[in-house]
Amino acid sequence: MKKLLALLLMLVMMLSLTACGSSPASNPSSKKKVGIAMPTKSSARWIADGDNIVKQLQAKGYETDLQYGEDNIENQVAQIENMITKGANILVVASIDGESLTDVLRKAKEKNIPVIAYDRLIKKTPNVDYYATFDNFKVGVLQATYIEKNLGLKDGKGPFNIELFGGSPDDNNAFMFFDGAMSILKPYIDTKKLVVKSGQMDMGVCATLRWDGATAQARMDNLLSKNYTAAKVDAVLSPYDGISIGVLSSLKAVGYGTSAQPMPIVTGQDAEIPSIKSIIKGEQSQTVFKDTRDLAKVTVDMVDALLNGKKAETNDDKTYNNGVKVVPSYLLVPVSVDKSNYIKVLVESGYYTEDKLK
Ligand code: BGC
Repeated sequence: MKKLLALLLMLVMMLSLTACGSSPASNPSSKKKVGIAMPTKSSARWIADGDNIVKQLQAKGYETDLQYGEDNIENQVAQIENMITKGANILVVASIDGESLTDVLRKAKEKNIPVIAYDRLIKKTPNVDYYATFDNFKVGVLQATYIEKNLGLKDGKGPFNIELFGGSPDDNNAFMFFDGAMSILKPYIDTKKLVVKSGQMDMGVCATLRWDGATAQARMDNLLSKNYTAAKVDAVLSPYDGISIGVLSSLKAVGYGTSAQPMPIVTGQDAEIPSIKSIIKGEQSQTVFKDTRDLAKVTVDMVDALLNGKKAETNDDKTYNNGVKVVPSYLLVPVSVDKSNYIKVLVESGYYTEDKLK
């Protein structure tokens, strides 16, 4: 009898030990913590990113600490510091300023906390392990190809007037988008089939700090009043929906958007709801959809691998040099969206319900 009891006791102990060692979900007290730092809630895409990551991590049994820096660099640094102090086992960071996290990530390294750069490359530090993002160069290519196709540039049409907007100069992505777009547009600028009347053609003058729509609107007001009182603008390269909305307001204010003076082609990015509504109305022309559910999935798989002592899956180990090292990356594929395919890409995929777009 005693032997039997001892055997049973041993069995019970063995079972509970295996439970502890397996997935974090099986024992709440052993849940591993993931600190997630996002840049801002002022744009819907980052809210979707945060929600998707949290949902997917929690489904795998992880504890999450999601913080938004509201585009304030010191805020974000303090939030990451706090995550480290509170015992995060891993960090997922979409930076506000890609070059300002060197010190705080050194602290993460001292505690052996792995770091995944989310969507935006973290620069000037050896302490970033992986990068999950979209093919950022391709985003710009998609925007510019839309302009090329819809102006009929390939068929030799032109000359057309275009103005160029870039994203935030502290975000590496902004340069990738701009370079991708210019890889398509520059040959037409060189042959004068595209004319930039303002002469503003590089990121030094075209960038928009913090991707701010109001800043872009003010710049567009200026470009229009200085260069387009007699001429009309045919296309505007915009890297992000929030910037596009600012540009469109500026255009409307001087009379664009009527049958006598139609809107120029205006691109965008992120497929945010106000921009999809604008596309349906015939104001904004295009946007680039980056499925945040997929980006969350890639990131969560990376987290899972790293916290289980494995290597994460990557598909590009050469493009993203952060100034100190090449960060192994996983790039997802962005999709161009306009009036012709938004139902298929956004509604049929379950990203938005149709009534949200009304
Ligand atoms: C992201 C874009 C976004 C932009 C502004 C970039 O880093 O890749 O998707 O439009 O930030 O939030």
